[in-house]
Amino acid sequence: MEKKHWISVWYFLAAIFLILTFESYFLAPHVENLSYSEFKRLVKAGKVENLTLGQTEITGTLKAEGLEGLLSKEKIADLKKFGKGEHRFVTVRVNDPSLVQELEGANVRFTGRRESNWISTLLSWIVPALLFFVLWGALIRRMGAPSGVLEIGKSKAKVYVEKKTGVTFEDVAGIDEAKEELMEVVSFLKDPQRYRRLGGNIPKGVLIVGAPGTGKTLLAKAVAGEARVPFFSLSGSDFVEMFVGVGAARVRDLFTQAQQKAPCIIFIDELDALGKARGVNPFGMHDEREQTLNQLLVEMDGFDTNKGVIILAATNRPETLDPALLRPGRFDRHVTLDRPDLKGREKILRVHTEHVVLSPEVDLSVIAARTPGFVGADLANLVNEAALLAARKGKEKVETADFDEAVDRIVGGLEKKTRVMNPKEKETVAYHEAGHALVAEFRPHADRVLKISIIPRGVAALGYTQQLPTEDRYLLKRSELLDRLDVLLGGRVAEEIVFGDISTGAQNDLQRATDMARHMITQYGMSDDLGLATFEEPRPSPYLNVPSAPGQRAYSERTAQSIDDEVKKLLDEAHVRVRKTLTAQRATLESLAKLLLEKEVVDRTTLDNLLKTHRERHSRPSRAG
Ligand code: ADP
Ligand code: ZN
Repeated sequence: MEKKHWISVWYFLAAIFLILTFESYFLAPHVENLSYSEFKRLVKAGKVENLTLGQTEITGTLKAEGLEGLLSKEKIADLKKFGKGEHRFVTVRVNDPSLVQELEGANVRFTGRRESNWISTLLSWIVPALLFFVLWGALIRRMGAPSGVLEIGKSKAKVYVEKKTGVTFEDVAGIDEAKEELMEVVSFLKDPQRYRRLGGNIPKGVLIVGAPGTGKTLLAKAVAGEARVPFFSLSGSDFVEMFVGVGAARVRDLFTQAQQKAPCIIFIDELDALGKARGVNPFGMHDEREQTLNQLLVEMDGFDTNKGVIILAATNRPETLDPALLRPGRFDRHVTLDRPDLKGREKILRVHTEHVVLSPEVDLSVIAARTPGFVGADLANLVNEAALLAARKGKEKVETADFDEAVDRIVGGLEKKTRVMNPKEKETVAYHEAGHALVAEFRPHADRVLKISIIPRGVAALGYTQQLPTEDRYLLKRSELLDRLDVLLGGRVAEEIVFGDISTGAQNDLQRATDMARHMITQYGMSDDLGLATFEEPRPSPYLNVPSAPGQRAYSERTAQSIDDEVKKLLDEAHVRVRKTLTAQRATLESLAKLLLEKEVVDRTTLDNLLKTHRERHSRPSRAG
C-alpha cells in the first residue's frame, strides 16, 4: 500500500513537469530584440523590409543598409545574428490602431498571421484530461484495487492477510474468562467433523467487546493460533470505500476465499466502522456502508457453520452497532474484555518481561499495583519503555527505578487521554460502586452482588457492580423492579451522602433508572394514577442503549404530563428509600469503599466477610444499649 502510494505521487510530479516543459517550450513568447519605439522609428525611416503581424508579436526583417544611424552597433549585430545573416527582429505588438495606416504610408509589405492554437488547445483540455486519468488511476490504486474499472471489488489486494498467526493462549494473560469462552471455538475449529457428528451448535460470529488495547486482536489471533487455522484479518474501515458497491463486493470475495480455506477465522477489527446502526447517522454517504453491511448480513446468514468458518469481530463501541448484527445466527455471542485487575496486570507483565533481563529486585506485583487502569497494550508499552530507559543508562539489567520512571511517563500520557483516574476520582468511584452494592445487599428482591470493581470498564463506565443473574428475565414483579430502581440510584446517593456533592459518573445510572420508571408506568401498567393502560413508546434497541428513533405519541399532552409526574414520583420515592438505607449503613459503606480503593476488585466472599463483621459490630452495641 505504502509503495503504491509513492508511485502515484511520482505520476503526479511527472505530469506537472511535462506541463511546465510544454509551456516554456511552445508558449513562451520569443524574446523580443527590438523595442516598440525603435520599431516605429524604423518604420518611419522606411527601413522595414517585410513584416508579419501576429496577435501578440510582430516579426520581420530590416533593410540591411542605413541602420547605423538608427540603432546601436551591438543591436544591429544582434539582429543579424538572430536572423542568421538577415536583420530579423521581434517586437511586442502593442495596442496601436494607427499602425496599419503608418505601415501603408511607409509602403511596407505586411501580412497578418493567425497564430495556430493547437498548443493552447492541447493545454486547455487534452492535458487536463490526461492529468485527470493519471489522478484517477492513482486514486484507484490507493484504494487497493487494480486499475481496471471492472475489477475493483474483486481485488485480493492485501486487504486481508491470511496467515498463521503463531500466537497462542500463552501470549494472552489476565483475561481468563474470555479465553475460556473462546476455547469452545478453538476445539470446534480443530475438529469440525466431531462437532458435526454430535450435532453441536457452533456460533457463527463472536463479538469481542473491549476498550482499545485490551487485547481483542491478540485474542482473535490466539484463537487462530491455538486451532492452527488460517486467519483472515481486516478492519471495518477497509470495507467503506468511495465507490458504491465496492465494499459489498469485497465482503462477497472475502467469504468466498474464506470458505475455500475452511476451517479458518475471519477477524473484522473495528466492526463499528462498518456496522453502525443504519439511520442513526443523518449525513449522506452511508449508502455504501449500508450496502456493505447488508452484504455482510447476507453472507453471514448464507454460509453454513459446519464448513468451519468462524467470524470474530472486535469493537469498543458495541452500543453503536446495528442491532441486526447482533441477532441470533450472527454476532450472537459476546465476549467482554475488561481492563485487567491487579492479578491480571501482573500476569500480563510476566508475559511481556519474559525476554527482558530483569534485575532480581524487580517485583512485578508491585509494578502491577502502581498501574491501575492500564490495559495490556499499555503494559506492553511500559515494559518496552523501561527496557529502553535502562539501556540508555547503560545498565545491564532493568531495575525497579526504570519501571517507575516508565510508569510516570506513560501515566502522564494516558491522563491526557483521560484513561487513568486520579486518586480523587478513584475515591468517588469507590464510594459510588460501594453504594450500588450495599443497596443491592439490603434489598430482598435485588439480584445478588457477584463482584464489585473500580477498574474502568469499556469507554464510559468507571467502575461496575456485577450482579447475578446478569441476563434479562422476562417476568418481573413490581417489588423486584422497585428494588432494581433503588440499586441503580445507590451509586449516586452514596456520593451525595459522603461527599455532599455529586459527579457526572452517575449519568448512565440515572438514565437507566428513568427508563425503568417510565417503562413501569407506560408499558407494565404499574402506576396507580394511570392504571392499566399502556402507552406505546418508541422501543429502544435491545442491545445497550442505542437511541431510539423518534416516533409519534399516541396519547394526549395531558397524559404525557401525568406520565412525567408519575415517573418523578417513583424516582423521588426511591431516592428517599435509598438515602435512608445508606445513611443507616454509613460505616459499612465507608469500609467497603476503603477496601475497594485498596484491592480494586471485591468478590462475593470478601463482601460476605465484610458484611458479617459489620453486622456483629452493629448488633453488639445495640444489644448492650
Ligand atoms: P485491541 O485489539 O484490543 O486494541 P491488541 O490486541 O491490538 O488490542 O493489543 C495490543 C498489544 O497489547 C498486543 O499486541 C499485546 O502485546 C498487548 N496486550 C494486550 N492485551 C494483552 C493481554 N491480555 N496479554 C498480553 N498482552 C496483551
Ligand atoms: Zn453507577
